Amino acid sequence: MAETRVFVSHATADLDAAQNLLSSVRNLPLTVALAGEEVEPGRARRNLEGQLRNSDLVIVLLTDDAADDYWVNQELGYAKAKGLPIIPIVEDDDYLRGYVEGTDGVQYDAQNPEVTVFNLLSRLRSELEPIGTLSSPNWYVAFPCNNGQCGAEVQLEIERLQKDLWQRFEHGKLLRANCPECGAGYEFNPATLGFVRSVAPEAE
Ligand SMILES: [Zn+2]
Repeated sequence: MAETRVFVSHATADLDAAQNLLSSVRNLPLTVALAGEEVEPGRARRNLEGQLRNSDLVIVLLTDDAADDYWVNQELGYAKAKGLPIIPIVEDDDYLRGYVEGTDGVQYDAQNPEVTVFNLLSRLRSELEPIGTLSSPNWYVAFPCNNGQCGAEVQLEIERLQKDLWQRFEHGKLLRANCPECGAGYEFNPATLGFVRSVAPEAE
């Protein structure tokens, strides 16, 4: 099955915020394209239309800057016309208008990034599961083991439901993956799927 492609629309001024919010989404088995990230300064963003055309889902960060941004509106209009699912991340529900009127937004809480990322992951999961591209067996984070020269692929399988992940987060428990080669452990925040720490393999 072709890899699922996610396009992220945002105002230029919000590139850092978008990168931070999407950092763990980018570790999932998805192709994530952030508008403007690969554009050389001064080049038109419309060159990204090809990426948008091949996307399965669009995430839009709707801040003060983005609400009146020409490119964000162009990209949303295009996504809407193509019938792509859109997940708006909004500072304020007032931004759920125009192309995203009637769409549920993910609340953007800059003071509480873990909650924002958790809610974004939950929405992403519920949008993508029904179309089969991200059924639970495909919901994992894969990365190379960085213990010495090991380099084996480690996978953090995420079998739990979002509500169970949230409970773990509230109880301060981490998710753990072990390297199949050397046994090094890697622990992750259950709410954001962000990496927290590595644990040396047990001495034999
Ligand atoms: Zn290893």
